[in-house]
Amino acid sequence: MDDLMTPRPNAHLLFSAVPALVRYLQTQATVYAPHRFGDTSYRFDQVLSPDAVVLDYNRTLQSIKKYFLPPRETLLSFSLTEATFEPVSAESSFRIFLGVHSYDLQALLRLDYNFTHGHPESNYLKRRENCAFVGVSFEPDEVHFSRSVGITVEEMEGFDLFLDRQDDGYAVFFLTDRGKALLEGFTEITKARNQSPVHREFRTKIKYNYNRLSEVFDQAWDSPVWEEVAERCVGCGTCNLVCPTCYCFTVDDEVNLTLTEGIRKRTWDGCMLSQFAQVAGGENFRYERSARQRHRVYRKFKYLSDPTGRPWCVGCGRCTAYCTARISIVDIVNQLCEDYEQRILHKNALV
Ligand code: SF4
Ligand code: SF4
Repeated sequence: MDDLMTPRPNAHLLFSAVPALVRYLQTQATVYAPHRFGDTSYRFDQVLSPDAVVLDYNRTLQSIKKYFLPPRETLLSFSLTEATFEPVSAESSFRIFLGVHSYDLQALLRLDYNFTHGHPESNYLKRRENCAFVGVSFEPDEVHFSRSVGITVEEMEGFDLFLDRQDDGYAVFFLTDRGKALLEGFTEITKARNQSPVHREFRTKIKYNYNRLSEVFDQAWDSPVWEEVAERCVGCGTCNLVCPTCYCFTVDDEVNLTLTEGIRKRTWDGCMLSQFAQVAGGENFRYERSARQRHRVYRKFKYLSDPTGRPWCVGCGRCTAYCTARISIVDIVNQLCEDYEQRILHKNALV
């Protein structure tokens, strides 16, 4: 990070003051934050007890996407006898999301793009109104790789406040007027020590800069990698369901037993599931798991990245950490990079 551009903290918050901070935020809005879930996992939940909030965590099972695009929701109810329908509109109230990692906020910014381009999605956009985001730094583990897709631990875009973990507490960065207002009157912060955010290194990396991945994917359609990965993949769809930038859903109608009324509901779907690309008549455009793997990875590094200039993978590592077959998306991309190098070498040898 360019030192001239490096933001400076505005205050310092001791670890012991975190519950007080949570309580203070709760006086202003409903607060959502990471909590322990079982022995080794974490998940975002509405805060009921400030002492249960955990700001030092590796990743949550699901990102905050679930609050904006719920796994299941009713879109409308209808009457078949009267030929009418009533949309179910999403509600918007002020909510604070505390302890969000940079890659998950970046994922939300990508979903904003998805749901505002083309036909804007009103329920998603309604839920996005009126939210404040308080980021927190994290220690990259063996599956985080967000630096490789242009997202540092200390990336603050989209946050109102950012807490950077230091030796005895957090350096607090005020990033927006809303962020300043959230802490106005909160007395348990002290004067800032004038340090920059701690720069954290990533152990897991993609071989090429993400700007070059488009050309790698131009050559990757026929790669043997897809078959190799498909031999291990069981097609469970977990990688889709935990991904913070996956936004595919299916829509079903449920009609009551008297066939007079019903509801239309939306449920998360995933391109790794066998029936995802099945159409009327039984044809399935991506029946083979290799074709589904290729589609999933192209969605992250090519199809949306070419028009936007940003990878649609934010390097959270969830699809690797929770994959039933321990398939690593970084290994897939690095193998494609190596195949690309071999092709270039081969081509040059022929010249
Ligand atoms: S989580 Fe792993 S095994 Fe399951 S569909 Fe995805 S890549 Fe295949
Ligand atoms: S593809 Fe995997 S690593 Fe990338 S954002 Fe989705 S879950 Fe995270």
